[in-house]
Amino acid sequence: MTKQVSLLELEQHELFLRRHIGPSDAEQAQMLDYVGAESLDDLTQQIVPEGIRLPTPLTVGESKGEAEALATLKAMADQNQVFKSYIGSGYYGTEVPSVILRNVLENPGWYTAYTPYQPEIAQGRLEAILNFQQLSMDLSGLDLASASLLDEATAAAEAMALAKRVSKNKKCNLYYIADDVFEQTRDVVINRAEHFGFEVKVGPAEDAKNHDIFGALLQYPNRFGEISDHSGLIAELKANKAVVAVAADIMALVLLKSPGSLGADVVLGSAQRFGVPMGFGGPHAAFFVTRDAYKRSMPGRIIGVSKDTRGNKALRMAMQTREQHIRREKANSNICTAQVLLANMASFYAVFHGPHGLRMIAERINRLTDIVAHGLKAKGVALANNSWFDTLTFTSDDKDAIVKRSVAAQVNLRLDSEGSLGVSIDETTTRDDVAVLFDVILGEGHGLEVASIDAELAEQGSNSIPAELIRDEDILTHPVFNSYQSETEMMRYIKRLENKDLALNHSMISLGSCTMKLNAGSEMIPVSWPEFANMHPFCPADQAQGYSAMINQLSDWLVNITGYDAVCMQPNSGAQGEYAGLLAIKKYHESRGEGHRNICLIPQSAHGTNPASAQMASLKVVVVACDKSGNVDMDDLRAKASELADNLSCIMITYPSTHGVYEEQVREICEVVHQHGGQVYMDGANMNAQVGLTSPGFIGSDVSHLNLHKTFAIPHGGGGPGMGPIGVKAHLAPFVAGHSLVKDGNASQDNGAVSAAPFGSAGILPISWGYIAMLGTKGLTQSTQVAMLNANYLTKKLSEHYPILYTGRNDRVAHECIVDLRPIKDASGVSEMDIAKRLMDYGFHSPTMSFPVAGTLMVEPTESESKFEIDRFVEAMISIKAEITKVESGDWPADNNPLVNAPHTLADIVDPAFDARPYDRQVAAYPVESCKLDKFWPTVNRIDDVYGDRNLFCSCPPLESYSGE
Ligand SMILES: *Cc1c(COP(=O)(O)O)cnc(C)c1O
Repeated sequence: MTKQVSLLELEQHELFLRRHIGPSDAEQAQMLDYVGAESLDDLTQQIVPEGIRLPTPLTVGESKGEAEALATLKAMADQNQVFKSYIGSGYYGTEVPSVILRNVLENPGWYTAYTPYQPEIAQGRLEAILNFQQLSMDLSGLDLASASLLDEATAAAEAMALAKRVSKNKKCNLYYIADDVFEQTRDVVINRAEHFGFEVKVGPAEDAKNHDIFGALLQYPNRFGEISDHSGLIAELKANKAVVAVAADIMALVLLKSPGSLGADVVLGSAQRFGVPMGFGGPHAAFFVTRDAYKRSMPGRIIGVSKDTRGNKALRMAMQTREQHIRREKANSNICTAQVLLANMASFYAVFHGPHGLRMIAERINRLTDIVAHGLKAKGVALANNSWFDTLTFTSDDKDAIVKRSVAAQVNLRLDSEGSLGVSIDETTTRDDVAVLFDVILGEGHGLEVASIDAELAEQGSNSIPAELIRDEDILTHPVFNSYQSETEMMRYIKRLENKDLALNHSMISLGSCTMKLNAGSEMIPVSWPEFANMHPFCPADQAQGYSAMINQLSDWLVNITGYDAVCMQPNSGAQGEYAGLLAIKKYHESRGEGHRNICLIPQSAHGTNPASAQMASLKVVVVACDKSGNVDMDDLRAKASELADNLSCIMITYPSTHGVYEEQVREICEVVHQHGGQVYMDGANMNAQVGLTSPGFIGSDVSHLNLHKTFAIPHGGGGPGMGPIGVKAHLAPFVAGHSLVKDGNASQDNGAVSAAPFGSAGILPISWGYIAMLGTKGLTQSTQVAMLNANYLTKKLSEHYPILYTGRNDRVAHECIVDLRPIKDASGVSEMDIAKRLMDYGFHSPTMSFPVAGTLMVEPTESESKFEIDRFVEAMISIKAEITKVESGDWPADNNPLVNAPHTLADIVDPAFDARPYDRQVAAYPVESCKLDKFWPTVNRIDDVYGDRNLFCSCPPLESYSGE
């Protein structure tokens, strides 16, 4: 097995592969021997059905190695021209506080964590998100905030969906969008409305009251910078049973009266300018706040305060029964991965600056804007604004000359479709910048002096914000926003939270379907490069050539890897990719005069986002049964496809299936659906078992999303960022998402948008670019093979102690396996939950619990885990099995044993009452020797879910309850 590699080759092509893949060559040989395969290729032969094996290798090139890949990427980054941006429109320059850059964004303790489904080992990020909710509520003036959404535009679309759910104007189908809302927001909402089957009217805000509507979207300040008192309008709309959403600027809200106090029912917006770089469009978090009365209709996640078995404060995700994992096509939204890391950065920004710091930043922005306005007015420029916070709009006969001067000065102004020009000032703007702006707008020799205008304004004051709209209530009064203004304290606060969380930098997180693989340092580094981080998504295309080159190359590679013909980079998550893909299918049918096709077949085993996305595309979900080996029941599929053929739109399948096996009949599934006029959507979440060996396009599918945050090494960030680009066959390419502001790059600019930014979260694409560049054809293929080796090794080890639910040909699994715990529960009373919590005592995050089958754990080790770590996990599972046996045999009482009492905290261990337990402290906290390696202490005991939902509390709790930490 150990190959002879020349020294020079090792240097160039082998090193990164060896670092990305966990087991060494020698260990791989041992593991192959154990599972009964001659080689990786032999194992692949045994697992992957012959008929779908790619006949030739990928053509993504040779591995570049880390140094060369970084140098190549840097050369591309250098092709970007980072102009000073005054474009605004939802994206602003911001100073990422270094303490947050270094300790959060660039820290694997934060970026490699998973969504906090196991709250006892996630109290740190849960607290950071709770702070985000508190921040959102304080600024918006409403009482219930969600954790985070994908961007401002999709948050606005969610507000419309919420309005439809809660409006008392039940029969009405018309939604109103004010024409001064950001254009990208308007476009995404219109697109969403079209596919929900809502009608939309766009017009002047005040005109909304002349229509019979179920809801309306306003913006505050509007896209031209004007700040209007909408309270009268909102009251009138509400009197007519409309639900009113207000998109608002988070920084402006520091100084402005809250939209909630003006009567808004929903307040939403981007939190980008709170310390998250523009990144050519993302990733950024959106905030979403509404009334407590609408809590059951809320989209996305909500963090709530509950208590643990000791009665201590403990945080968790609340009211999950609203979400797609449980409600499927009846869910409020399809939101799964949702920008958590960026929400955390924004919340830390607020914690660090505190209310006074934020006010200073906002006032400074406003003052600089006042100076610009004052100067321009003095020189006779026609300002469109009567009021402003940071954005001015003006017209000029001299427009062409102004644009020319702006390019020369490396400055981007906003160029409106209406012909006007605009400037948005931000936190990074300086007095010198303003002087340059004067030169650009007025030409040399204007004679304006920033300092003297400033002095004048300081004396006479400014009334740029209407007096009746100046905020009159304090914000961020909670101690958490008033205690960490020194960098030392801030650093320690971040560290304190980090220490409560188990992330990949502690141990393996073998979450099935989530592919928690290595996010290599070399892949992550370019994310912070200013040439990528500080680009505005709507900057002129010629300034973004580096981004174009990188995105084009990545698209080409993904085309090669997926076997499709084109890739659309717009969706910000897997679920959003599903939505975008289904819309492409819908439009394709329409283009052929078959717009009536509205049935979406979905196998029982599908991920909850599949039916939730289908519902958003107004498709009717019909469930296809699975047989007892976990495969799609072909008879049922044939029967349904033929019975529903006239209206069949598509099927959504996952491959390898969520049951962790390569279904032999997958080509047949595609054929049956095609035969009846349907399209095949292949959920790409399991691409980690396909790359280099087979591909959705080769198998016969028409469209897939790729979770770049699973297979292609973007970290999970505690629940986002993500990227869910879709690959499509040529016939669907004309129907993928377009963008009205950025005309190139997407298949058709006329198609509706699914995200605010044309390339979604472009700022994290360098990670996936780096992953593919550094592994190359050989490394990618080998990664897939080792992912399967690791899974089969682990499965065989576990199968000696636990039943494995499904296996495919030759009794193999693909890249993950499902451990069936139902027989154990029947025999001993010990549940999958007890085992998940007990794993924490052993220092592990639980595998995926109860998906896709209730009462099971789904384990996916990925290629990045070493044999050492997999063996440690197996040791823990075997030890737990022995514990279960003791419960079963009655050695330990069913209601008092290390499993039902798990997880154990330090508080348990030092509690004298522990002596009364039927097991000792060693068993509780150090059940196996390897715990001593790096003991992880859960900071709370098991959390009471029912209590948390019954007593919903979603803001920062009073300080007293923080005791016991
Ligand atoms: C993760 C996952 C999704 C959803 O992807 P997000 O990026 O979280 O939106 C969909 N389907 C399957 C099978 C998944 O594992």
